[in-house]
Amino acid sequence: MIIVMAANVPQASVDRVVSEIERMGCKAHLSRGTFRTVIGAIGEEGAIDQHRLTTLDGVEKVVPIMTPYKLASREFHEEDSVVQIGGRSTPRQLVGGKHALSIAGPCTIENREMLWRIARHVKEGGATVLRGGAFKPRTSPYSFQGLGEQALQWLRECGDELGMPICTEVMDTRQVELVNQYTDMFQIGARNMQNFDLLREVGKTDKPVLLKRGLAATVKDWLLSAEYVLSQGNRAVILCERGIKTFEDSIRFTMDITSIPVARKLSHLPIIVDPSHAAGRRDYVGALACAGMAAGAHGTMIEVHYCPAEAQCDGPQALLPETFASLMTQLRLIAKLYGREFPN
Ligand code: PEP
Ligand code: MN
Repeated sequence: MIIVMAANVPQASVDRVVSEIERMGCKAHLSRGTFRTVIGAIGEEGAIDQHRLTTLDGVEKVVPIMTPYKLASREFHEEDSVVQIGGRSTPRQLVGGKHALSIAGPCTIENREMLWRIARHVKEGGATVLRGGAFKPRTSPYSFQGLGEQALQWLRECGDELGMPICTEVMDTRQVELVNQYTDMFQIGARNMQNFDLLREVGKTDKPVLLKRGLAATVKDWLLSAEYVLSQGNRAVILCERGIKTFEDSIRFTMDITSIPVARKLSHLPIIVDPSHAAGRRDYVGALACAGMAAGAHGTMIEVHYCPAEAQCDGPQALLPETFASLMTQLRLIAKLYGREFPN
């Protein structure tokens, strides 16, 4: 249910509605727009007395949210959400609305020296958030699984030194506390998009969550996963389209360009694209990144390596640093054309 307050109502009226919602055993989530406040009342079906809420001072209307996801919906929050990443030990970066974001770095952190080398390259190329895997979801249990906490330490040190917020994957509820000590943003991988306990756990933190779309998830499934995070009080969710399984086998996954306008219509959350994991090979990464930005994405996540042939993981899709830099030049132009801007 959403409770739309009349324009410019006093705070006391908002507080009154909130306490009434809580008295009904539900949770109240506030969305403050430019002109009015909307209150989301979330709880078990039937718990909310719609008529009672309608009679309260300052309430303009009470309307049910028809979509199964509530806090993620445009009905609840009409304007694009802008999410802040970093701002503690690094400058902050914004994504959503007119703010575009470029995340780049290696698939996995192989050693300290390679991380620094790639980080310097991607910063120079225009990336503003540094990525790197410390815990890797590998198809085979015998493949390299990541260097764990040691890699997190290197990533933190490197991000701080270069002034870039960092983003890394968390795969399990048991890792959330540890990863939270280091990262500026949690990445939930495609294979964990419906790990509901994990979603709840990152939802209890105050760090942004980059939520990759599952390999076989519909946009609705994806938004319901975002809802798990939002329902815990964490409002900083960024969607990431990274390709889905289709019958097409000339590429690793099919990047679903359509999901970008669809998700943007249904939801206020920022959405970026990861063309690297979709394509699985570097020669298609540029085209997909450009298409994603033109379709309305708020940015990209791209894997880069100076020597892809020797990469421990995902070498075939890694861009060389110079290719990444020239792609960023193109992406800046496309973003501008569509009313969005990368910070540099
Ligand atoms: C990654 O970003 O390194 C990764 C494993 O992504 P995905 O979960 O999309 O496969
Ligand atoms: Mn990868």
